[in-house]
Parts: sequence; C-alpha cells; structure tokens
Amino acid sequence: MLLTGGTLLRLHPPTLARADLRVEGDAIVARGARLTPKPGEAVEDCRGRLILPGFVCAHTHMYSALSRGMPAPAAPPKSFPEMLARVWWRLDQALNDEAIYYSAMVGAVEAVRAGTTTIVDHHASPNAIPGSLDIIREALGVVGVRGVLCYEVTDRGGLRRRDAGLAENDRFLTATRTDPQFRGLVGAHASFTLRESSMAAVGDLARYHRAGVHIHAAEALDDEQRAKRVHGCGIIDRLERHGLLNDRAVLAHGVHLSARDIARVTSAGAWLVHNARSNMNNAVGHAPVERFGERAALGTDGWPADMLAELRFAHFREREHLGLRQAFPAAALLEGGQALASEVFGVPFGSLSPGSAADLVVCDYVPPTPLTAVNLPWHLIAGVQPTMFTGVMVAGRWVCRNGVAVNIDVDAVYARARQLAAAVWRRMRG
Ligand SMILES: [Zn+2]
Repeated sequence: MLLTGGTLLRLHPPTLARADLRVEGDAIVARGARLTPKPGEAVEDCRGRLILPGFVCAHTHMYSALSRGMPAPAAPPKSFPEMLARVWWRLDQALNDEAIYYSAMVGAVEAVRAGTTTIVDHHASPNAIPGSLDIIREALGVVGVRGVLCYEVTDRGGLRRRDAGLAENDRFLTATRTDPQFRGLVGAHASFTLRESSMAAVGDLARYHRAGVHIHAAEALDDEQRAKRVHGCGIIDRLERHGLLNDRAVLAHGVHLSARDIARVTSAGAWLVHNARSNMNNAVGHAPVERFGERAALGTDGWPADMLAELRFAHFREREHLGLRQAFPAAALLEGGQALASEVFGVPFGSLSPGSAADLVVCDYVPPTPLTAVNLPWHLIAGVQPTMFTGVMVAGRWVCRNGVAVNIDVDAVYARARQLAAAVWRRMRG
C-alpha cells in the first residue's frame, strides 16, 4: 500500500516532512518525495492530512473498561488503600473469562479509535487466572491492536493465587517470545503486596525470560512507608535487591519516589510511566514527572487509552505545578511510549521510517494557524482530536476508519459488555 502526499510527523523531537510512505506486510519499507505506485498497489491519498506514528499506552488495566459508572461502595473510600480494597480488588475478583474478554474488546476499540496502536496492560483476575492473558490476546487480536501483557503477581490472594499468577506470566512469555503482535512482561502488583519470597520469585522469572517487570511503584505514600517499616528499605532498594531494577523494567506512577530514588531509576534505565488522570482522580499526589528523564512514557491506568486526552491532563497538571518558570515537554512522553514499544518488540516505532512498524494514524487536521515542527506540541494539545482520525493502521492493516473499528461488530460487543458489566457489578456487591 502507498500513502501519498501526507505530512509525516515525529512527536519528539518534533519533525514535519511531506513524503509518501510504502507499507508492505507489517512494516514501512520506503519513504520518499514521490514514490511510484507498483502495479496493483493500493494507494491512499493523504494530501492535506497528517500522518502520525501510532500512540502507545504504556500502563493500563483494560479490565477497568467494565467499571465505568458502577455504583460507589456503601462506605466511600477515604484513602488510596481503601479505594483499592473497596473498589478495584472487588472488581478484579468479580471477573470471569467472558468479562475479561469483553473488557479487553471494549478497551481495544476505544484505543484504536483514539489512534493508540499498542497497549501495555497490567491484568488481574484472581478468580480466573490461568489463560487470562490468552483471552486478552485473543480480544486484542480480533480488534487488531498490539499488546504487551502481564499478570499481576501479588500476595493478596494467598500463595496458591500468587503461584498461579507467576505461572501465567511464565506461560505467556514463553508463548509470545517471537510473536510480532504480542509480548509479555512479568507483572507484579506493588511492593506493598509482595513479601520477600514473592519478590524473589518475580525476579527469578524476569531473569529467566530476560523480561522486564511491570509494577506499580510509589503510587501512593503508603507503598514506600510500608517497605521501610516491613522490609527496612525502600521500594527501589527492594527492586534492586531482586535484580528487577534494569532497563527493561516498567515502573508505573512513581508519585512518591524521592529525588535520589528517581536518579537511581533513571541511571538503571528503567521506564517510568506517568498516569496523570489516574493520579489526580485517586488524589495520590503530584508525580515529579519533570524529573523522570528521557525514559518516561504516558499511561492511562484504566481510563480509556486516548493518549491525546492523557497528554492534555499531563500538560495542564504539570503547568500548574511548575508555574511559568520551567517548560515541560509533555509530548515527549508520547514518544517515550513508542520508544518503549520499540525495545519490547525489537522493531522501531515512532519514526515512520523504512524498517519501522507500520503502526500509524492518518489525521484530517486543518490547522487554523501555521503548523511547524517547533509548535507541533501545541497543535497536539490544543487542536488534534481523535474525531479527525480517518485511518488507524496496526502492522500494515487498517483497524479503524473514520472512528469505526473495522474488524468487529462494535454494537454487538458493547451490548454484551453492558450485560456483563451489570453482572460484574452484582458480583462485586455480593
Ligand atoms: Zn495501574
């Protein structure tokens, strides 16, 4: 397929260039000023349109898709640990195989509509652990989005479930070692629900697979406080002790990491994922994202995988925090997600150059002011909207056209999702 006449963007450092793109199989194979169509080649006229590399949501929980609008618990949570215990840990316990499948479908549909082509998911379903990552993989595969999946190992359900979680990660990592569309990480909930032997088991598994850990780190203040109280050291010490602090690790939130710990994380090359909306909604505090460095990305932590929406929240929250004295390039976090995906899949994402994954978004954005490489971040924050996306491609295949996910019957999926959500909410109350 040939995409002709579009303006190709790179998000950070921002660049703009008019060029044609040739896609063959799942990759971009050529980029040039005027590529000649080959006989029989499909041509997409992209004149007047922007072509963006597909967005990456670097931390989320797609099972949250069925939680939208659910009734609040009888005793409203007054702290983050109470929020986990009364809302999210009741939700994940109420999931069965079908609820996992449909929540992943809904999450994937919302992702592709928003131009998100890779989802880094952190899954938990304590009453349906074995095979749960395959269920998510199947749902994402049907919609056509890429997934980097893991099962969250935790002690909160006892040793049998902890071991089942480890086994699910192990199985999935083995099954997807060379998969072009899906990869695994070793999922772990958070330091405060993992005893030493569990953290050691996570470390062993990550070493065995040469895979990164995907874990919540210092999301709320209690995580670090508990590590110090129970283990006599901080979260980052614990990760380091178990060989988990390395350049494959994905640490979500980092709200309460000290400047010293952030420096250790960045010097180890671990990824830090900022989740602006979630942090604000859970009132866990302000993440010092201005110190996260180059290996930082953006996640939605259960909110729909609309990365432009997340970008706006990240920008405005940081602007409010820093004031006008220090600029914060929030759009760099979007490019960070693409760099993370590049490392996980071993293929470039984010540059729209030959050899890159053919994951891209065609956008019918008519700028009302001059659009340049320098001011591109402002057009992303203030102008570009998913409703302008005329085509979203993953691995060389259109997955969404003009807001419609093309590989599934969305109305039927949503109708079943509504039924299943009501049943999940009933089980949560029971
Ligand atoms: Zn999370």
